[in-house]
Amino acid sequence: MTIYQNLIAGEWTGAEAVENINPSDTKEVVGLYASGSAADTGNAIAAAKAAFPAWSRSGIWERHVILKKAGDEIMARKDELGALLAREEGKTLPEAIGETIRASQIFEFFAGEALRLAGEVVPSVRPNIGVEITREPLGVIGIITPWNFPIAIPAWKIAPALCYGNTIVFKPAELVPGCSWAIVDILNRAGLPKGVLNLVMGKGSIVGQTMLDSPDLAGITFTGSVGTGKRVAVSSIEHNRKIQLEMGGKNPMVVLDDADLSVAVEAAANSAFFSTGQRCTASSRLIVTEGIHDRFVAAMTEKLKTLNVDHALKTGTHIGPVVDERQLKTDTDYIEIGKKEGAKLAFGGELISRDTPGFYLQPTLFTEATNQMRISREEIFGPVASVIRVKDYEEALAVANDTPFGLSSGIATTSLKHATHFKRNAEAGMVMVNLPTAGVDFHVPFGGRKGSSYGSREQGKYAAEFFTTVKTAYTLA
Ligand code: NAD
Repeated sequence: MTIYQNLIAGEWTGAEAVENINPSDTKEVVGLYASGSAADTGNAIAAAKAAFPAWSRSGIWERHVILKKAGDEIMARKDELGALLAREEGKTLPEAIGETIRASQIFEFFAGEALRLAGEVVPSVRPNIGVEITREPLGVIGIITPWNFPIAIPAWKIAPALCYGNTIVFKPAELVPGCSWAIVDILNRAGLPKGVLNLVMGKGSIVGQTMLDSPDLAGITFTGSVGTGKRVAVSSIEHNRKIQLEMGGKNPMVVLDDADLSVAVEAAANSAFFSTGQRCTASSRLIVTEGIHDRFVAAMTEKLKTLNVDHALKTGTHIGPVVDERQLKTDTDYIEIGKKEGAKLAFGGELISRDTPGFYLQPTLFTEATNQMRISREEIFGPVASVIRVKDYEEALAVANDTPFGLSSGIATTSLKHATHFKRNAEAGMVMVNLPTAGVDFHVPFGGRKGSSYGSREQGKYAAEFFTTVKTAYTLA
């Protein structure tokens, strides 16, 4: 089998490899992917450092052309790359193709942003002096990504990093190297100079840790768990390094008595169970007022009966497998914890077998949960959600905000008054009204508050905050 290698200083390299396994069919090896060493990582950092002076001064048209070319190729290959994504991560083929299209759109967007770079010229408060404010690239950026969005998250970090003139050392999650390799190959062929984008696949404890320990990374943009995010933060203080952290969530979805029941059920089912609940923006706390509670639970249970859990590539699959055995164990452990805590298992909770050996788990719904239970406080990151019954809107809002996290927050209501109040008072970076808590646009800011995020927003023009540093120049006329 071919080994998909790391890209360091413009050369494909690496003989050590690990198998990329399909969670829908654990007999299938998606490919063999290089597993980099600390020395490989050091070489990648050195290459990115050496490439920075020239790339940081490259013309905006050159950056535009490369980013546009990459976006076009990803779009042209959306079905093939979507299938690769579905095979390595386990989300359904339509979801995987949708994510691939989004990655293409992100490259298109930042191809445009490269041509819209601008600064400010302002008068000085002193006579005969002019002031210019410009944005400059940061330097070498470390990019560390999780497994759950294997093409979109790398795209929304790599595209702005290049657009604003930075060089990159990119370390994708061990479980999903395939889409990352494909993006890097596309950008490399699109004409990036050697060393501008370096790919080091491999272990977090080796490749990731070497990045954290390096004084040569000017910034690290990280998406992943709270625990790893904290390591990134602590190591970065020592190196005076800029960081952007996107971490976990325990996103609430409030359903009020006046909600349109079918809108609420569609939004809640999508939020909690699509992509196998493995989205940082997934909703795992369904906070429902008492007047609609029983009707909502009955309709949700009926909805869950219609969702097929099966092989990600099979037509008609709504929910693919859990990503791997470890995550499956986390999910089933939390299901046991929920039962012991006294929540009522209203649907699911069982492993299922299908034609191929995979990590198949029924969508699982608890009722009679309280917001103090561990299943309501800790991120599970699987197809497991709980219904929390509340008296009225005021209690719903208080429960929604009573969490250490603050990524996304949703409400189903037909009341303009409550929707408006919720948009203003939800303690989250993103608020959804009559929509799932997951599912966002690529051209506007993405990110959260409290324990979910640290640093400036990702995506849209707000991405410039992280990927550039501001210079103020004074000139005597
Ligand atoms: P993780 O923290 O285990 O891994 C994330 C990345 O960090 C991987 O590439 C991993 O190899 C690397 N890593 C591990 N140890 C490291 C170390 N010592 N030094 C440097 N890097 C290291 O997270 P995961 O399990 O891949 O992803 C799931 C988590 O990601 C969930 O908590 C989820 O909520 C979060 N997530 C958040 C967002 C968001 O935007 N807020 C989006 C997607 C996923």
